[in-house]
Formats: sequence, C-alpha cells, structure tokens
Amino acid sequence: MSFSALGLVPALSRAVAKLGFSAPTAIQAAAIPAVLAGRDVLATAQTGSGKTAAFCLPLLQGVLAGAATLPHRVRALVLVPTRELAVQVGGVLQQLARTLDRPVKVAAVFGGVSINPQMMALRGGADVVVATPGRLLDLLQHNAVSLAAVNTLVLDEADRLLDLGFADELAQVLAALPARRQNLFFSATFPPAVVTLAKGLLHDPLRVAVEAESPAEPAIVQRVIEVDAPRRTQLLRHLILTGGWERVLVFVATQHAADQVAAKLNRDDEIYATSFHGGLSQGARAQTLDEFKDKRWDVLVTTDLTARGIDIVQMPVVVNYDLPRSADDYVHRIGRTGRAGECGLAISFVSADSEAHFRLIEKRQKLKLLRERIAGFELTQAAAIAAPGNGGVKGKRPSKKDKLRAAAKTAAESA
Ligand code: AMP
Repeated sequence: MSFSALGLVPALSRAVAKLGFSAPTAIQAAAIPAVLAGRDVLATAQTGSGKTAAFCLPLLQGVLAGAATLPHRVRALVLVPTRELAVQVGGVLQQLARTLDRPVKVAAVFGGVSINPQMMALRGGADVVVATPGRLLDLLQHNAVSLAAVNTLVLDEADRLLDLGFADELAQVLAALPARRQNLFFSATFPPAVVTLAKGLLHDPLRVAVEAESPAEPAIVQRVIEVDAPRRTQLLRHLILTGGWERVLVFVATQHAADQVAAKLNRDDEIYATSFHGGLSQGARAQTLDEFKDKRWDVLVTTDLTARGIDIVQMPVVVNYDLPRSADDYVHRIGRTGRAGECGLAISFVSADSEAHFRLIEKRQKLKLLRERIAGFELTQAAAIAAPGNGGVKGKRPSKKDKLRAAAKTAAESA
C-alpha cells in the first residue's frame, strides 16, 4: 500500500518519500484515513510503531486545508510528556511542513529551559503547537498563546503523561480548549486512569491496536543472561567488547546507579559510557543526547524516567542491567531497540534475587525466555534461588503469607 492511497495530498506523500518511508506501517494505514475523515482515534501503540507520522501527516493536511482562513492560529495541539518527545515530534512536523507549498508554522514548547525564546517564537502565531502541559499553561498565563481555534488535539504517550503526574495540568489545558474538536489518543498501555481519561475525551473513536504479529512491529531478539548481581558490570563490559557494540542503551534502577555504572564502564579507554537521567540539567541532557547521536559515546546508562522520550534511530542493543519494575516498563525499555523494522537486541540480566521478578514479567508478557550463561560469568548463587519450603527467593524478606505458612507449619509440628 502507498501513502497516497491513504488519502494524503501529493506534497505529503512526497514528504514521506523524502524521509525514506516506502510504505505505511500498520498504525499509519489504519489511523491516517480515519483522522483525515475527521474521526477521533484511540490507538494502542508503542514507540517504534510509526505512531508519530500516523498523527503528524493527517494533522498537517488538516492544518493546510484551513491555512488560508486562519493563518497562524493554533489549530492543532500535540501534548507530550517529555521535552525529548516534544523536540522529536516537533522535528518530524517541521521536516514534513518544509515540503508543503503553503507555510505551516510549528512550535515546540517544553519546560526546563527559559520561557522567553518560546514566547518570542509564538509571537507571530503558530499553526501547530507541540507542548508539555506545564510549560503550555505557563505560556497561556503569559497570554503568549491562544488555544481558542484548536480543532485537533493529540495526546501522545498518554500513559506517560499521567505517570509523570501531569493529570492536573492536563485538566487545565483541556479546559482551555474549544469543546468541539477532534481528539487523537495514543498510549502504549491502558491502566484505569488512562481508560478514564480516554472515555472523557473521545467520541465514537476508531480503535487501533497494533498487533504483535503485525509486519510493522519491530523485530526484537530478547535474551536473558544469568549473572551474579555484583558481576553485572564486568559481564556488560565483556559483552560490549566481544560483541563490538557501539550503541548501547543500559537501564538501571536509580540515577546514582546510572552514574556509577557509567563511571565503571569508562574506567579505561576501551568503552565510552555516560549517564543520562532526570537528575541532570536540561542543558546537560540535551548535550549528552547530541553527543550520543554523534557517536561520541558508545553507551548511555539511563533510568526509566527518560526511557520513553528518546528517539535514537538504530539503537541496536538495549540492556536491562537492573530489571524494570513492571511488565509495561519492560515493553517500553525494549521498544527503544528494533525501531520501525530494524532488528534489535534486548538483553536482561537476572540474578538469584531478581529471577522471581523476571518470571512475573514473563508471565504478564506471555513469554518464556531461555536463561543463558556466559562462560566465566556463571551464576555462583544459583543453588540458592529456591529457599526450601516456602518457594521464596534467597535474600528476600519472607512475605506475610510465608510467615503465616511457617507459623501454621510450626503449630502443626508441635501439635
Ligand atoms: P515512532 O513510533 O513514531 O516513534 O517511529 C519510530 C521510527 O520509525 C522513527 O525513527 C521513524 O522515522 C520510523 N518510521 C515511521 N514510519 C515509518 C515508515 N512508514 N517506514 C519506515 N520507517 C518509519
């Protein structure tokens, strides 16, 4: 199927060709005609599915149609959870807009940087605004932007917007929008709060879910390697060097761990690693990302907070040094690799302490992955995995149930 068959105007079909997209992904094929027809859309979509272009293309076409009557009044608003995603989505829109025969102005606004340049940028108006909710509210309070003419709202990574605590800001932004508008809702996961938000926003939406077996779904090879927790850095170094990996994203549990692991990997001149997390200033984060994109770093050690907003094409390897807290986070993390058809590798380290937790992730994801061992890094604590009697995990405190069971057993034995 071609992009023009979806109803896109020739200028936009040419724009996607320029981006190197030869055929629409599953979500693009489903969403673009519906958005062009004016329908609300509720999409279950991960990063890597092509969701950004799925809303950017029809959104620009809509703006283009009204450009003559409402020049530079904000007609499309895209709300995103992070600065990185704002920059990424703004970049895609700007790239596409450049190829159009009428000027369409796109502004990306986000917190953590000075508000003044953003106010200046909005001075002559804008057709499309991509924003994080907090900064958008600041701009509204400064009368730097008006949302009175918005006819299309996009919520991108809605689950993440709520995760990051933007519920109140979101409600305030929604209150500033015209009631009659088209709503496009994209989320990777649908916990109850997201379902409630979607129900309140959408009218008879087209539901689009990108199925796992879709050809557009990225090919990700998932591997699990057993290793004693204290030897993970050594194993990581070994894998990076023997695999000749040059672009690796490593997930750890805390900002402190990110700094520590990066420092340890960096110890000699063989691997160039740096940390990337919410504790760094916006300027430092932007600089690190630029440097990583320029291949100055081989390894970026990061936390979940920033995991979803980063778009780095050709991220061949993702490593779960510390396991994610939830199965949803696991999906997000490994979604950083194998983007849009490229093949990716996702490796998770499990130790005696984390094996039980990984089994839960597998259960939620309906997965059963082989446990691998690497010569020289065999698990010495393996024998201790199953504590006798309670099926628990060595090193873990007994749960309330374990204690009750033990008490019942003692009582039965002494009876
Ligand atoms: P997204 O899911 O929007 O974050 O997109 C993930 C990646 O897929 C981005 O790097 C896009 O440039 C790329 N992409 C999006 N649509 C297509 C397509 N139809 N063909 C090839 N690559 C695409």
